[in-house]
Amino acid sequence: MGIRLYNSLTLQVEDFVPSDSNAVRMYTCGPTVYSFAHIGNLRTFTFNDILRRWLRARDFVLHDVMNITDVEDKIIRNSMAKGIPMGEYTQQYEKAFIEDCATMRFVPPWRLVRATEHIPEMVAMIEKLHEKGFTYESDGSVYYRIGRFPGYGKLSHNDFGGIRAGARVDVDEYDKDDARDFVLWKARKENEPFWEAPFGNGRPGWHIECSAMATKYLGDTLDIHAGGIDLLFPHHENEIAQSEGCSGKPFARFWLHCEHLLVDFSKMSKSLGNIYTLRELIEMGHAPETVRYLLASVPYRKKLNFSFDGLKAAATSIERLRNYALRLNTDKYPDGVSEPLEARAVKALADFDAGMDDDLNTAEALAAIYEYVRDTNSAMDAGDFKAGNVASAKRVLEKFDSVFEVLAPSVTEGALPDAAIDALVAERSLAKKNKDFKRSDEIRAELLAMGVILEDTKDGARWKRKS
Ligand code: AMP
Ligand code: ZN
Repeated sequence: MGIRLYNSLTLQVEDFVPSDSNAVRMYTCGPTVYSFAHIGNLRTFTFNDILRRWLRARDFVLHDVMNITDVEDKIIRNSMAKGIPMGEYTQQYEKAFIEDCATMRFVPPWRLVRATEHIPEMVAMIEKLHEKGFTYESDGSVYYRIGRFPGYGKLSHNDFGGIRAGARVDVDEYDKDDARDFVLWKARKENEPFWEAPFGNGRPGWHIECSAMATKYLGDTLDIHAGGIDLLFPHHENEIAQSEGCSGKPFARFWLHCEHLLVDFSKMSKSLGNIYTLRELIEMGHAPETVRYLLASVPYRKKLNFSFDGLKAAATSIERLRNYALRLNTDKYPDGVSEPLEARAVKALADFDAGMDDDLNTAEALAAIYEYVRDTNSAMDAGDFKAGNVASAKRVLEKFDSVFEVLAPSVTEGALPDAAIDALVAERSLAKKNKDFKRSDEIRAELLAMGVILEDTKDGARWKRKS
């Protein structure tokens, strides 16, 4: 069985196969760089990272594009209020976003593309839509006439039969269930950035940015288009109207949407003022991999209510797995191999795969790992786990970490490198052997002060960093 994914277009979980051999053409709506990303945004991008990792794990070759929206209403408003040129304003947040993605351990996409570097493609698309009769002009702006596109509403599953002809909207975001002709090109306004176009100077609407960039890099029909659930309408509905209006072909075969991260059961959003940025959480002492684990552990189509208890539980889960990895690496096991435990590892891997294949059910995949860890921990206690079982147990952990990637602790600035810790631990062992307990206690205290915990076992001393 291969990967099955929930398709918002058909409202069904479907077998996923790319249209062209094993190459997956995928587009994801990226951030609007007008401020720091909050962990709600990062939930959607974590889902995206898990999806990309799992497609790769299933041997697909990814051609995936993510955009940076670096021209849009909020950006212009904020940069003008601060008196900073738009490019300079967006650059700092784009840089911060890329840093956050690295901190979150996201695998970089094949292409990360800026809207402002694709204005000619957007202009060409608007011209094509104009030739095909989908557009009209008013006060120097160009609008998309949604009444001309019979499929309008097919993604949001709304019947827009009663569309008010000529009702139009200049802003990029508007309410659900309210179908309006949307803006493709906004007429130049005093002091605002603008570009030249045959239909007048101005700037692109938000929706045309994604259609133009997706088509440029991935062709007329994508295998997957992804984003947060709030983008489904109107943004993605409008992308379909633009792209299909232009090409006459289906725009995306699979539409994937990540549910919201909530705070006190309301959507985390800048406008509600209930946001946390990754940077804030790190300042508060939370490790980035804890945030990653928390966001990744709940299947993407379920709402997730953020809480500090949840974050603490995520840290405990990671700790448990790290302790297991440590035990695997440092305990001495009897020679030989237990065949039932080898079979147990094969089952754990199969269950993990089955969970991930099932519309990226990360909760199911995690359960497979925890059951395996519990079973093998008991086998270790009972002396049934043999030296020959270590390799398969490591394979299970590696498989888990190839998707979740939380096992390696983030090395905080100024932290002691592994080699230095090893050297101190060796020095302490020697001190103990020479009955120099003063020095050995000193080293233990020194390490503890630097966030390293020492544990003496029958097989010698082992250490771990404090989470
Ligand atoms: P933006 O930078 O506002 O364009 O948003 C970037 C991405 O984050 C989009 O895919 C949004 O749908 C998504 N997003 C925004 N708020 C949340 C949230 N609370 N939970 C999950 N995803 C979100
Ligand atoms: Zn988009």
